[in-house]
Amino acid sequence: MVEQSARLSPVLKQATPVLAARGEGVHIYDEDGRRYLDFTAGIGVTSTGHCHPKVVEAAQKQVGTLIHGQYTTVMHRPLLRLTEELGSVLPEGLDRLFYVNSGSEAVEAALRLARQATGRQNAVVFEGSFHGRTMAAASLTTSGTKIRAGIGPLMPGVAVAPFPYAYRLGMNEEQAVEYALAELDYMFATVTSPKDTAAFFIEPVLGEGGYVPVPPAFLEGLRRRADEHGILLVADEVQTGFGRTGRFWGHEHAAVRPDVVITAKGLASGFPLSAIAAPESIMERAWPGSQGGTYGGNAVACAAALATLEVIREEGLVENAARNGERLLTGLRKAAEGHARVGDVRGLGLMAASEFTTPDGSPDTETATKAHKAATERGLLLLTCGPHGNVVRMIPPLVVDADQIDEALALWSEALADASA
Ligand code: PMP
Repeated sequence: MVEQSARLSPVLKQATPVLAARGEGVHIYDEDGRRYLDFTAGIGVTSTGHCHPKVVEAAQKQVGTLIHGQYTTVMHRPLLRLTEELGSVLPEGLDRLFYVNSGSEAVEAALRLARQATGRQNAVVFEGSFHGRTMAAASLTTSGTKIRAGIGPLMPGVAVAPFPYAYRLGMNEEQAVEYALAELDYMFATVTSPKDTAAFFIEPVLGEGGYVPVPPAFLEGLRRRADEHGILLVADEVQTGFGRTGRFWGHEHAAVRPDVVITAKGLASGFPLSAIAAPESIMERAWPGSQGGTYGGNAVACAAALATLEVIREEGLVENAARNGERLLTGLRKAAEGHARVGDVRGLGLMAASEFTTPDGSPDTETATKAHKAATERGLLLLTCGPHGNVVRMIPPLVVDADQIDEALALWSEALADASA
């Protein structure tokens, strides 16, 4: 259990009372040696599991060689090697990239890039999306008003279009896509002219907003509009990238190639690193010197990212995410049978969620909170999401095996029973 330092600001909200002493694979151990099955992965970060030996070795070696080179002062080998390696996993044509430290910074960087490359001001985002907490990223974020409350005025030039969230809209997927695209077109006629629109920002799976996979037809609809009007399609793959969804990139579930890809979280297995990739035709329009930062492309983080890529390849983690993601989703559906408060179970790869609703269809935050707490007490670490906190999500490390999925599902069934007792 956590002893809270009185000096720690209450602005940080703690999801669980666990004091982590060490991590290994899919497990976290507290100071009393209690073992937790970690289905949060540090919010989708520890892709190769906690302290994967190869990542540890690479980082340790780099720490004793060069910790910080500062990439706009001196170049270093880990960054050069990583840039070449990322070239082989990024969508074809997105062959220019640069680095910053976090998802939010990368989103800000992509927004600056989109504005410079198009000479246009506005960005279109989708209801419920999360793009970060820094000021511009928060202005693009509508996953919950807690991110925006009390900090305004936010950045102008952001238009929020409906997201095809079929369950919430009470529609099937096809209807939801049709509705959301029609609303987007209406928005182009009423709010932001396509001529003023620099970019669409979209997460291939709505993350913090409730774990809702984007229907492929919607992404394809965005691609068509982007092509027609010269708008950039920016895929925020901060949470969905690096194998998380059972493909290397989340957008690969649709027949689209984005213009810009943002990656962070799983990229370096826990070290702060993010990257922005785009074709040369876009990057060459950025003003030299307008991007960068002191810590971007840190040498230890780059070495960890190189090891992460190697582990993903060697251990077939993308395929594992697809296979065990399917097992997880099937198990969650089964666990929800007979639990009237679980209104929807959905996911893609190793991003899976159960949405709690009351009998009249309203968000049931209370039962979700109880189930989340019961799971923690039983040794299964989970996170909630969604604007109302009524969605419980599972996002285990990509190294999770079938037995660990089954163990988590058994604990989840017990937690569901506890929550409805
Ligand atoms: N974009 C997405 C899709 C995210 O999930 C997150 C983090 N949850 C961010 C951006 C922001 O990343 P960071 O917290 O590293 O700034």
